Amino acid sequence: MIEVCGITKKYGSKYALRDVSFTAREGEILGFLGPNGAGKSTTMNIITGYLSSNEGTVKVGGHEILQEPLKAKTLLGYLPEHPPLYGEMTVKEQLCFTYDLRRVRLNRREHITRCCELVRIEDVFHRRIKNLSKGYRQRVGLASALIGDPPILILDEPTAGLDPQQIIDMRELIKDLGKERTVLLSSHILSEVQAVCERVLVLSNGVVVADDKPAQLSRNLSGAGRVIARIAGPPDEVLQTLQGLPSLALAEDLGSIEEGSHDWALRAKEGADLRRELFFALAQKGWPLLCLRSDEMSLEDVFLQLTKGEDG
Ligand code: ADP
Ligand code: MG
Repeated sequence: MIEVCGITKKYGSKYALRDVSFTAREGEILGFLGPNGAGKSTTMNIITGYLSSNEGTVKVGGHEILQEPLKAKTLLGYLPEHPPLYGEMTVKEQLCFTYDLRRVRLNRREHITRCCELVRIEDVFHRRIKNLSKGYRQRVGLASALIGDPPILILDEPTAGLDPQQIIDMRELIKDLGKERTVLLSSHILSEVQAVCERVLVLSNGVVVADDKPAQLSRNLSGAGRVIARIAGPPDEVLQTLQGLPSLALAEDLGSIEEGSHDWALRAKEGADLRRELFFALAQKGWPLLCLRSDEMSLEDVFLQLTKGEDG
């Protein structure tokens, strides 16, 4: 649905984006993750045709954004970082205004009502935008992006500035909308993309440094087969037993957190699963296994690792 190919953008002599390429497939919720200044908004502005790039091409539904802007833009709904809403207008007036701008052919009243229902703002339909809370205003911005029923939504930090309940509501809403649409969503918050997205692109200093499923990202980097085990047994003997496990590559004593036990970081040999061997070996010795969990990195760790050495 969106094909970004080799985009480079310079502001003056400074690179904001360098050779950025990716595709968003139909029906996918794709997350764009990166710290402030990484180039998320710039990328989104280029995809939506508000900015031009120095190099590279963007195709939306097969239409090059600069050569066939109308055809491409009809497919796009855009919620910019700061939605351009008119405070003096009521929600109804704002949405009618967007409707007219976009030259939508759907039945006007029905369509606008439906967009309001989708983002749940029916109750403020006749209120002035300047009197609405940040959460409601963000949803009006989203309703405005939905006008014309575009199959692709580009959402730039849609939860920025919302309170925790509003963030939860907004995430649910995006997941709902994503069932029938392609969504590209940016965030500098790692748990955010983890909660909503099926695939994540990590952007750092204008360069894509990773492109993967959220869970896969952390697995690849943590090395599969890492577990933490809390074992109640004499540490020296436990270590000997652990070292006798055929699948073990490495055992590290993490010390004692719970009295009478030690925590161990265990790494399995390539492709092996330690857990069964571990269970039987400990049972044979009569040492209770108090806790066993996989040691996957959080996305925060992943991000730090991926961008290590660059100044963020
Ligand atoms: P993000 O949305 O990820 O926070 P941006 O795309 O807004 O990042 O910005 C990427 C980089 O480009 C930053 O270093 C920013 O300072 C710079 N930048 C953005 N807009 C402009 C502009 N209009 N003029 C000059 N530099 C800009
Ligand atoms: Mg931004």
